[in-house]
Amino acid sequence: MFGDLSPKSLPLGRTYIVAMQEWTILEGNAEDDLSTTIRSLDELKLTMLFPVDILGRGFTYYYENWIKGLSIEEGEIRSQVQGADLYQVRFWKRGPKLIASCNCPYEAKCKHMAATLIAAMHKIQGE
Ligand SMILES: [Zn+2]
Repeated sequence: MFGDLSPKSLPLGRTYIVAMQEWTILEGNAEDDLSTTIRSLDELKLTMLFPVDILGRGFTYYYENWIKGLSIEEGEIRSQVQGADLYQVRFWKRGPKLIASCNCPYEAKCKHMAATLIAAMHKIQGE
């Protein structure tokens, strides 16, 4: 028996894995870990990392508590940000780069990333 290889024998409910887009937020030092990189930021530097309207909305999201979860671990920052949907944001280092991803439909550095970075800055620098 060779089995039935016709299309109708394909399993239903296949899972499609779509690669999430990654954005370089900044290039710093490769030897700096994630928290050192975040610690080096301030609000003035943020204005160089995001377009001003995106950053402004990021601050709004942060101050209006639309970040529903923030976890800061050794190699990764993760958050859930409430927008039209609940979006998943991640930050991590790759060599000298600080990389971010978000699963919202906006195809550029987004307000959810800005809000998460602001929250992480306040949390890490407030320690
Ligand atoms: Zn987003």
